[in-house]
Amino acid sequence: MQDYVKPVFFLLVTVLVAGAIGGVMAANRGRMVAAWSILCTLLPPLLLLIYFLRPLCEVEGKFRRCSHCGELIKWHETVCTYCRSAQPETMGSNT
Ligand SMILES: [Zn+2]
Repeated sequence: MQDYVKPVFFLLVTVLVAGAIGGVMAANRGRMVAAWSILCTLLPPLLLLIYFLRPLCEVEGKFRRCSHCGELIKWHETVCTYCRSAQPETMGSNT
């Protein structure tokens, strides 16, 4: 048996995957993709942090602002999770 697969290789793959996931999650939350993917590459536990972070701004298809209280809610939610007011239906991407 040859020892091609080194622990270092696994570590490298893990951090690269963590960086990629961090970048995607940052994009979904309207945050800086490059900064977060680098941070998650260096510190994979930051993935947990960004998972619980709320988005900074509206993200098409992901998050939108409540028309009543202005909090960010999930794109397809019909009732605001903060003030319980009904939300207008989401239209297509361009109206
Ligand atoms: Zn609301």
